[in-house]
Amino acid sequence: MGEGIAIKLLVDRTAGRLGRWLRILGFDVEYVATCDVSVIARIARQTGRKAVTRTRSLAERLGTDSILLESEHLEDQIRQVVEIFGRDACEPFSRCNICNAVLEDIAKEEVKGRVPQYVYDTHDEFAVCPVCGRYYWRGTHWQEMTKRIDEILGGCQDA
Ligand SMILES: [Zn+2]
Repeated sequence: MGEGIAIKLLVDRTAGRLGRWLRILGFDVEYVATCDVSVIARIARQTGRKAVTRTRSLAERLGTDSILLESEHLEDQIRQVVEIFGRDACEPFSRCNICNAVLEDIAKEEVKGRVPQYVYDTHDEFAVCPVCGRYYWRGTHWQEMTKRIDEILGGCQDA
């Protein structure tokens, strides 16, 4: 795995589902639970994150430090954000989808007994989250998600 994408995003409640996808694509995504525009703006500035939102007043307040989502549809939203940074900026499955940390490669023998036996028997590459310790491998879920990502990003302008 690489160093992870350096692009830092702050996702508010108007874009929660999108945030999950952006993290799968490898973006550094944190969530903010409040709906208070001035609080979100302050957190975005203090943490150096671009706010991703459907809330126009927040985007106007933050200017270029924000991304105002044009569509209410998830797939359009994914494409909008990816087109801003370029598809090459994406590093799918490079982060823990629970805690946002960049995953680290781990030798197969080190996961023996820590993942289901059939998974161990049928996979050779594993990664681990250095923060929460979850193990990752490229199983059927990964295959389905990769297919979905290709379908969605197939419509990107710079793809
Ligand atoms: Zn984790």
